[in-house]
Amino acid sequence: GCTAERLALALRAAAAVIAVHRDELVELDRAIGDADHGENMHRGFTAVVAKLVGGGFDTPGAVLKVTATTLISTVGGASGPLYGTAFLRASTALGDTSEVDGPGAAAALRGALDGVVARGKAEVGDKTMVDALAPAVEAAKAAAEAGGDVAAVLAVAAEAGERGAESTVPLVARKGRASYLGERSAGHLDPGARSTALLLRALADEAG
Ligand code: ADP
Ligand code: MG
Ligand code: MG
Repeated sequence: GCTAERLALALRAAAAVIAVHRDELVELDRAIGDADHGENMHRGFTAVVAKLVGGGFDTPGAVLKVTATTLISTVGGASGPLYGTAFLRASTALGDTSEVDGPGAAAALRGALDGVVARGKAEVGDKTMVDALAPAVEAAKAAAEAGGDVAAVLAVAAEAGERGAESTVPLVARKGRASYLGERSAGHLDPGARSTALLLRALADEAG
């Protein structure tokens, strides 16, 4: 299973992935938004690393909770409250468990999706991070029900998240800034879907 320590390391790895992809996320957001998604995410995850570096978290849920509150207070924009709520609901889903197993990982991802949807009211097909997260949740559920451990569950979630993010390219945005462009938003990858896919991949590589 995935301990608090392991999860904290995985989130630090996720922050490094966000740093590497910062300019890419800026350019994706420049095409259909206001060119700040890479900056927003980089600022947020840099602050998360600063909070996690000292360690001392008893449970994976505690690690996710400090991640959530830090993202809420530092990311800003539309994505800050959405990612913050996602991590908070994932934390709640884990409760005080000391090691995340396959079903636990699937439940945490389900909590994250429920949080994003409760907050942002986006559906699959609206060209948002939900298009990456929703198929990841479905894939995770199936893998957990088939007896998959945390590595197996996160691996299929990451794969589904990447496919889901790619599926946003032809879509017309119906939520967030990109929706102001109407039909002109089609033909571009959604930056939030891309960052969600990157986070899922980093977690699968490091927490699984
Ligand atoms: P802002 O649009 O305020 O500049 P960001 O650029 O950081 O914020 O984040 C934009 C991303 O947020 C979008 O690419 C999209 O994936 C996501 N997003 C925006 N609105 C919603 C919503 N209502 N539900 C889910 N995701 C959303
Ligand atoms: Mg933006
Ligand atoms: Mg902005």
